Amino acid sequence: MDDGRRRLVLLGGGHSHLAVVAAAGQWTAAAEVTLVSPDVRTAYSGMVPGVIAGHYAIDDCLIDVARLAARSKVRFLQAAATGLDPLRRIVRLDDGGTLDYDLLSIDVGATPRIPDAVAGAVLHGQCGGLTLAPCKPFPLLIERLDRFFASLPGQPGPIEACVVGAGLAGIEVALALAFRLRHRPSTRIRLLSGEARLLPAAAHGIGSALERACHEAGVEVVPDCRIATVEPPGTLVAADGRRFPARLALFATGAAAPAWLAHSGLMLDPRGFIAVEPTLASVSHPEVFAAGDCASVLQHPRPKAGVYAVRQGLPLADNLRRALAGERPVPFSPQREALALAALGPRSAIAIRNGWALGGPAGRRWLGHGLSGRLSRQLWRWKDRIDQAFVGRY
Ligand SMILES: Cc1cc2nc3c(=O)[nH]c(=O)nc-3n(C[C@H](O)[C@H](O)[C@H](O)COP(=O)(O)OP(=O)(O)OC[C@H]3O[C@@H](n4cnc5c(N)ncnc54)[C@H](O)[C@@H]3O)c2cc1C
Repeated sequence: MDDGRRRLVLLGGGHSHLAVVAAAGQWTAAAEVTLVSPDVRTAYSGMVPGVIAGHYAIDDCLIDVARLAARSKVRFLQAAATGLDPLRRIVRLDDGGTLDYDLLSIDVGATPRIPDAVAGAVLHGQCGGLTLAPCKPFPLLIERLDRFFASLPGQPGPIEACVVGAGLAGIEVALALAFRLRHRPSTRIRLLSGEARLLPAAAHGIGSALERACHEAGVEVVPDCRIATVEPPGTLVAADGRRFPARLALFATGAAAPAWLAHSGLMLDPRGFIAVEPTLASVSHPEVFAAGDCASVLQHPRPKAGVYAVRQGLPLADNLRRALAGERPVPFSPQREALALAALGPRSAIAIRNGWALGGPAGRRWLGHGLSGRLSRQLWRWKDRIDQAFVGRY
């Protein structure tokens, strides 16, 4: 560097990098910081089901990372990384350019795990009369959903919609859709689960409470159903031959590692995510840090969830500051269990933690309908305050 400053490149404006960009304003004497992101605005995942349900406008859940960068005197580059040469310390970009770095931090999230035979149709977004969308990236999901909702008044007749993938995100999306389309007669929403029951890794009571919530909202849970192909004019076909004609199909099929990481030269975990130390530094390249869904802390495996990505933000910022100052990074130990506040469609929520759930149908047997309903609405108000405060902070 001509001016003696080190070059810190931040790839992705995800949940962890928000805290880094906000803090980077204090480092500009020591480093030239560049944020690379294909999106000027990034969505806060916790509010996305609320956008689908119609409780929020899309702007409510978007954080302007370009503006955040400008406030911190961080250079903003609207592009996506497509490759890495960690030996020469170069990032390759989708606009054909390259970027040199001394220190690199990666927070590019995960991509939905979509079967190859369906991926083309999901990318294209339309198969006959069927609109398809992945649940991530969020701006694409919201854009396609907006177009779908806008087309509805001109299309009478029943609506069949499928949410493919029944993790917590898929469940929230299905419940949000059911709420959004509640006044539309003959709406049929199916939640296609690859497993025999909802959230099989969680305590049994949690899955069955969510199953009951789906049932009460009119969402049909279809167990043991893995979508293999899409056929024109708009039918999802499962591996066992079951067919689901639909006008809308949303894919919330779990987190896969971004494909370009496979050739990045960084050490990866068996699922293709960047293997990092508890300091969030790459196991193979100490000048590369990674956080959020795209990284796996080998010593502390955790689910891919925004809450863990957010919690990594401040320790990541601190360790990048240390690395710039030539100090050793400090290990970070994430909490074992995180509280999940899941939206149930209307302005009500269920709280899940340590194998327990409260709100919605969970705990209704002891609390009764009235108290349980009040609790669910209170949980939603709490979630709403937390989420809005997070977005407001940036
Ligand atoms: C519908 C839905 C609801 C969810 N709700 C919750 C919830 O309530 N609570 C919870 O804990 N988790 C939730 N999740 C999970 C949550 O979305 C993720 O765990 C979280 O977004 C991970 O944050 P991240 O920082 O790793 O990546 P992301 O938030 O995905 O951000 C990655 C960023 O990197 C950018 N990027 C991508 N590729 C590149 C590239 N090649 N180069 C440069 N930039 C790139 C993207 O544009 C994006 O801005 C939900 C997921 C879904 C699908």
